[in-house]
Amino acid sequence: MNGMMYMRGSRHDFDGWAKMGNPGWSYQDVLPYFLKSEDNHQATIMDAGYHGVGGPLPVGQFPYHPPLSHAILQAGLELGYQVRDLNGALHTGFAIAQTMSKNGSRFSSARAFLRPAKDRANLHVMLNSTVTRVLIDPKKKAAYGVEVYSGTDGRTISINARHEVIVSGGAVASPQLLLLSGIGPKEDLRSVGVPVVHDLPGVGRNLHNHVAFFVNFRINDTSTTPLNWATAMEYLLFRDGLMSGTGISEVTAVLPSKYVNPADDNPDLQFFFGGYLADCAKTGQVGEKSGSGEGDARRVVNMIPAVLHPKSRGQLKLKSSDPLAHPAIYARYLSHPDDVAVLVDGIKIAIRMSETPALRKYGMELDRTPTMGCEDLEFGCDAYWECAVRRNTGPENHQAGSCRMGPPSDPGAVVDAELRVHGIDRLRVVDASVMPAVTSGNTNAPVVMIAEKASDMIKARWVGRKPWSKW
Ligand SMILES: Cc1cc2nc3c(=O)[nH]c(=O)nc-3n(C[C@H](O)[C@H](O)[C@H](O)COP(=O)(O)OP(=O)(O)OC[C@H]3O[C@@H](n4cnc5c(N)ncnc54)[C@H](O)[C@@H]3O)c2cc1C
Repeated sequence: MNGMMYMRGSRHDFDGWAKMGNPGWSYQDVLPYFLKSEDNHQATIMDAGYHGVGGPLPVGQFPYHPPLSHAILQAGLELGYQVRDLNGALHTGFAIAQTMSKNGSRFSSARAFLRPAKDRANLHVMLNSTVTRVLIDPKKKAAYGVEVYSGTDGRTISINARHEVIVSGGAVASPQLLLLSGIGPKEDLRSVGVPVVHDLPGVGRNLHNHVAFFVNFRINDTSTTPLNWATAMEYLLFRDGLMSGTGISEVTAVLPSKYVNPADDNPDLQFFFGGYLADCAKTGQVGEKSGSGEGDARRVVNMIPAVLHPKSRGQLKLKSSDPLAHPAIYARYLSHPDDVAVLVDGIKIAIRMSETPALRKYGMELDRTPTMGCEDLEFGCDAYWECAVRRNTGPENHQAGSCRMGPPSDPGAVVDAELRVHGIDRLRVVDASVMPAVTSGNTNAPVVMIAEKASDMIKARWVGRKPWSKW
């Protein structure tokens, strides 16, 4: 479940991964895997050569765009930026983002990839189940299965793997699972009583995320229609109208701060927009006011600059050896001063955007309510914004890097360029945790690309080979 925005990131991200010692991950190498999964239903209006059709994942804009979305694009043009395909030849500019959706409804990875395969004999999906440990033969240093706790009957069972085990629990749960299985920094494992199977210092380190700040504005707005029976019928019959979109959250911009060279086309800020969602009518009757009861002409909208190349790094550790307990997450957002500086510059760009004629038409005005804890500072000076971003830090949902990919010579690397865990055979990690550095945009499309690439690696190792000998 996510916001569906389809953003691949910048070519510089993947070229950077390759430069860090990960052959096969340059932009030229990964582009075919983006194309492979994509079924772009607007391919003809996107940059030629950068989009796929016929794949399992439908990609395209929502059918419904509120007028304010177009006004934000116009604001971008007035600031001197282009409105363009941000997954195409260049990465700087504004767009109504494409999304993982079809006919105005969301298309999760499960819907795109799992449902079509649901009748295969070699697929079994267990619901309400938690993998608690990867089973590893300590002598052979090879994974041979998993232990699974079933929340339905309270039983823990073991499942053996004939070929290999693939961990894809995401940037929080994958390192947690490796740690629970005895793979990680040996001191940390010992401190919580987990027997060390393989000392791998990088597990759980390098955890990072895009970090953002909500800048609030008020706008004059009388145009909003609440959700009611008419909008529901429009959606059900035609897959169109208010219910087939996400308001101005569909718009995004990827822009350079003053700290990077715009000519490099490697922007370090992404802007999200929010607060313009349709309201529910109280009973659904057409013509009724929205259920929020606000009914005033000054709605709050947000512009949300996010730091795309964070230098701050956090860490994830086990709090105990209980596999069902939450791990301890030390996010350490904004612990690197450069991230603060870039975010403050992003706020200033957002304010400049609000002052363009296109948005002035909406009476857009900065909400000058001071952030709690920063009241003593002069509103709007750099020190004020630095205080505000530290007080009201807005983590994005793009956690990455906690099982990072790198060569054996890299002491912080957890998996190699084939996503195999260093030092343990038959065990791969395939998810956002393997990114050495988070991509410059939303992370779902890159994770799908990583999965497409991993599936080729897995086939290359096992197709035509005999399965695992009996344990
Ligand atoms: C609110 C929100 C909005 C977002 N919006 C966007 C967006 O608009 N566009 C975008 O590109 N990205 C978006 N993202 C980010 C995107 O969803 C993630 O980057 C992506 O899902 C990460 O994929 P993953 O496979 O690494 O992890 P996940 O998608 O988290 O998948 C991990 C899976 O493993 C399961 N799991 C974990 N531990 C265990 C265990 N021990 N046993 C069994 N199963 C386990 C989890 O239940 C989960 O299903 C958003 C994220 C959030 C939270």
